[in-house]
Amino acid sequence: MESVIQEKGNLSIHTENIFPIIKKFLYSDHEIFLRELVSNAVDASQKIKKLASYGEYNGELGDLKVVVKLDKDAKTITISDNGIGMTAEEIKKYINQIAFSGATEFVEQYKDKGEGDKGIIGHFGLGFYSAYMVAENVEIITKSYKEGAEAVRWECDGSTEFEISPIEKAERGTDIILHIAADSEEFLDEHRLRGILEKYGKFLPIEIEFEDKVINNPSPIWTKSPADLTDEDYLAFYKELYPFGEDPLFWIHLNVDYPFNLTGVLYFPKLRNDFQGQREKIQLYSRQVFITDEVKDIVPDFLQLLHGVIDSPDIPLNVSRSYLQADGNVKKINGYITRKVADKLLEIFKNDREGFEKKFDDIGLFVKYGIISDDKFYDKAKDFCLLKNTEGKFFTFEEYREHIKENQTDKNDSLVWLYTTDEKKQDAFIQSAKKRSYDVLVMNTVIDSHFINALEQKLEKISVKRVDADTLDKLVEKEVKLESILSSDDQEKVKKVFEGVSESKTAHITVEAMPVDELPVVITFPEFMRRMTDMQASSGQRSMFGDMPLMYTVSLNSNHPLIGKIAGSDSEDDQKALAKQLYDLALLSQGLLSGNDLTRFIQRTVSTL
Ligand code: ADP
Ligand code: MG
Repeated sequence: MESVIQEKGNLSIHTENIFPIIKKFLYSDHEIFLRELVSNAVDASQKIKKLASYGEYNGELGDLKVVVKLDKDAKTITISDNGIGMTAEEIKKYINQIAFSGATEFVEQYKDKGEGDKGIIGHFGLGFYSAYMVAENVEIITKSYKEGAEAVRWECDGSTEFEISPIEKAERGTDIILHIAADSEEFLDEHRLRGILEKYGKFLPIEIEFEDKVINNPSPIWTKSPADLTDEDYLAFYKELYPFGEDPLFWIHLNVDYPFNLTGVLYFPKLRNDFQGQREKIQLYSRQVFITDEVKDIVPDFLQLLHGVIDSPDIPLNVSRSYLQADGNVKKINGYITRKVADKLLEIFKNDREGFEKKFDDIGLFVKYGIISDDKFYDKAKDFCLLKNTEGKFFTFEEYREHIKENQTDKNDSLVWLYTTDEKKQDAFIQSAKKRSYDVLVMNTVIDSHFINALEQKLEKISVKRVDADTLDKLVEKEVKLESILSSDDQEKVKKVFEGVSESKTAHITVEAMPVDELPVVITFPEFMRRMTDMQASSGQRSMFGDMPLMYTVSLNSNHPLIGKIAGSDSEDDQKALAKQLYDLALLSQGLLSGNDLTRFIQRTVSTL
């Protein structure tokens, strides 16, 4: 079949259908109406200011402010400003034409004045109609700044008919009077209203007055130049954002105008080890209007734990999350924030190494999380990320390589990093490592097992092992092995004795030639198995090995005199008694001896004294 275009034309909208749509679907949150109307009033005030500065208005500016009034009896909310006002013609143009933005037109008209759209909030030409989400009837009473302008009254009850008539109004500016609908009377509550005003308008650039009190700070610090600000200013602003927060460690002032606009201040908080219960969040603003504190797609994941404010008119609002993730500006913003944070950390590291080390217990979490999750961040962080050893000394990756190179390079030319997750519990192993002049790192935060995995992949020729994962000879395998004093027959004999003594089916018994001054029997857990358990624990999962009997290795030191004694003894009873005692001692040092076994061990020990 042949297809033919038969007709072309314009789609039409039945305007009587538009109000119910606006009312239901414009914004999911009805409280937004106040944000929109107050923003319009702020815009009207900003415009008159601008006109005055361009020399297009020569009258008195007066005290520019927005006043919000509640009248419970009349069931009205009134938003008043002494801004630019509107003539009857302008009402017809800006209000009657839905989705025609006077704000955009104003910006267009004055774009060559150099300031661009700075300070003007409106954009889509839809904000005003959000009034109908809560009002059954809206009045506008307005008088333009223009000389000889007549005040006008506009009214519309949510049908498609409106009324315009002349009215008396002494001062320049606009009153928007909302007659609240029966299903929205919750908004006729002063606490509710103040709450909404403070949420969205806390940092609007024109004073907002509610019940004779100014509710906002019109010039928050992110709108100022860092050069004009002191540490006290930043700390005071932090308190303003989070009245109950503990002082932050430091902060970063963000300020870009190309290729996107973004300002803000990000604070590094002191983190508790469990970053679950974190209440404070980064707040997102657009031209000083609060938008949301869900910044998931705008701020990289690993920086979600920062606090503070980001203000960008270039983040598309009212769009779906998947759209936001794909947005070019949002991606650039993400990259910019990551870079700024990395640069700031590098700067502190370079200028104040000591201070940086002191803060590292807190910022280490960010840095490690960033290294795990963001390759660009890793590229910078690899130069300032610190490792801490059991002596409390800090090293960068490069410094650490130098520090352990001599002792802890194995026969494959790989560097072996040893670490402990619990200095007290693993003390016996740490001490043995130190005897060989090995260094042991402390890795005891929730994120460390993931961090270690990431590093093994990123850094070349290193392997990372927990200090009790194996005997030291196996952890750092060297070309030259110690000679065994025991003959291989004796080694077999001793092994048999211990197998007879061991009650565990999951214990694997081996004989190794270790230095004489190391322990006679050492019990260890394989690194891979233990690390899986650690990672699962940190992600809150149940351990995969939770129900399985613990697998472990029992290494007998063939050079230790007590092992030699067992080999040299002819009495089976003596062999067994000594082996049992040494075996239990090793279990005890790993925390594996308890209950009756422990009691019997103590009784046996005491009886030999
Ligand atoms: P936008 O703010 O995105 O332009 P709105 O629907 O919020 O769209 O407002 C439409 C237009 O109506 C505004 O651009 C402005 O020209 C005019 N307007 C709204 N409220 C006021 C006010 N309080 N004073 C002066 N003009 C206003
Ligand atoms: Mg608007």
